Amino acid sequence: MDVRRRMAPPPAVGVPHRKPAGAPRALQAGDALPLPIRHTNLIFSALFAVSLAYLMRRWRAKIRSSIPFHVVSLTEILATFVLVASLIYLLSFFGIAFVQSIVSSTDEDEDFLVASSSSSTTAKPPAPAPPAQCGLLGSADAVSDKMPEEDEEIVAGVVAGKIPSYVLETKLGDCRRAAGLRREALRRITGRQIEGLPLDGFDYASILGQCCELPVGYVQLPVGIAGPLLLDGQRFYVPMATTEGCLVASTNRGCKAIAESGGASSVVLRDAMTRAPVARFPTARQAAHLKAFLEDPANFDTLSVVFNRSSRFGRLQTVQCAMAGRNIYMRFSCSTGDAMGMNMISKGVQNVLDYLQDDFPDMDVISISGNFCSDKKSAAVNWIEGRGKSVVCEAVIKEEIVRKVLKTNVQSLVELNVIKNLAGSAVAGALGGFNAHASNIVSAIFIATGQDPAQNVESSQCITMLEAINDGRDLHISVTMPSIEVGTVGGGTQLASQSACLDLLGVKGANRESPGTNARILATVVAGGVLAGELSLLSALAAGQLVKSHMKYNRSSRDMSKAASLSLTP
Ligand code: ADP
Repeated sequence: MDVRRRMAPPPAVGVPHRKPAGAPRALQAGDALPLPIRHTNLIFSALFAVSLAYLMRRWRAKIRSSIPFHVVSLTEILATFVLVASLIYLLSFFGIAFVQSIVSSTDEDEDFLVASSSSSTTAKPPAPAPPAQCGLLGSADAVSDKMPEEDEEIVAGVVAGKIPSYVLETKLGDCRRAAGLRREALRRITGRQIEGLPLDGFDYASILGQCCELPVGYVQLPVGIAGPLLLDGQRFYVPMATTEGCLVASTNRGCKAIAESGGASSVVLRDAMTRAPVARFPTARQAAHLKAFLEDPANFDTLSVVFNRSSRFGRLQTVQCAMAGRNIYMRFSCSTGDAMGMNMISKGVQNVLDYLQDDFPDMDVISISGNFCSDKKSAAVNWIEGRGKSVVCEAVIKEEIVRKVLKTNVQSLVELNVIKNLAGSAVAGALGGFNAHASNIVSAIFIATGQDPAQNVESSQCITMLEAINDGRDLHISVTMPSIEVGTVGGGTQLASQSACLDLLGVKGANRESPGTNARILATVVAGGVLAGELSLLSALAAGQLVKSHMKYNRSSRDMSKAASLSLTP
């Protein structure tokens, strides 16, 4: 940001620029001296006068008695020294002050002239200085950038409500300029500078009509890397966008434990996005007729042909219906290639609804989404039937690694998982929340890779299972996640940063040879990351409990029976 001299506020017209009476005295350099400056001045003035008077008297005496001038006594030398020193002091003090007073009086004149010339000839007080403008076409921090007249008019129009803010991109044909002008209008309307929200350094054209409307800037988020995550024989460096301290470090520790135990493996059980429109009939009987029609295997091929017309990648898999009175909820499932698939499936469903309308004229489509889908809401249907990719990921962690890397033991981990993740979540009435913190890892990877963060709701459904195997020595850990909703094309995945994170994982964009493979690999990476995160957090909790227990019992010689029972039944 430019560093500029701040102009003093302009005085009222015709009023000389003076310090108001009683205004606090400005701090001066002399305030740092041990004596007040006026005392020092007095002393040096007195020394100057005394030494000068003494030397003049001596010179007069020498002239009268014809003593040569170069014959000097010690006191004369001393007096000369004092005279010169005090003269230097007085000159430097009053001389500088004098020069400063000349300079500052010139500044005052200039300020006065600026104020006079910028004000009208009437006795109106001058307008207050306009608030600093955020840079519109240059740096966001270049406060004094002058806006072109045309931009000024547009901003004024937006502020006055005459120009809708949302038309700026279309009207100007320049997304960066549109965002800048909208931001300036926002600043004027709210009086907030939003300086910390950057404007430059972002490609606003890349989000137009796809990712975000009415942009005024972008939020910065740190991205950390956990890994390598050894999964299905491949090493993944997992990007995580988060502001939660320890999350990446903890996941990284889990990755290390998994890698040193030989890696994790995953299986994708199902891959289908869902959309469930709701329609109403005059009677429940008529609604039931449609249900029977849609679920009849004999009609599936016809429905598929109609549905699949919408995309090369959307392929109808199943239709499952539920009823509430005379309302019917039709849950369509389809594969969506490498796309997360909400747009794709919505188009296919619309095709089918249009087709059905001919055979079921009494059908009244209430909404393309009837919440039986179920998108971005906690719902048992996703937990039981799955949505997106249903993935199981597992690993066997060796006893030695549990001890060395995770600083705990197999028995403690297994017991903690039963009591916390299974029983505790049952007590809480959890719906798919049988885990320690799956949503932490899901959200961080979703944000880094351009997924829809709101789908974290169902994508984080997870049951974590821990068992002791190999005669209780090693740990089998698995996460089962029925609804991981991810894609590698469409939406936020095409933005520069998010696309770079997908590239890091080797799953950027569409998989040409085998459409859908990239999105499925991404889903397994999410599950693998969750496996690592679960392993690490559960270990920290188990170890923390052990440390506490040790502090409480092992250091007390009086209560050894409790310590013994604790270690026998961890
Ligand atoms: P979503 O359905 O997840 O909202 P979009 O419909 O926005 O995603 O993006 C998917 C688009 O990408 C479609 O137009 C589709 O034809 C295209 N596409 C290209 N290659 C693939 C692929 N391998 N898998 C899925 N879609 C693909």
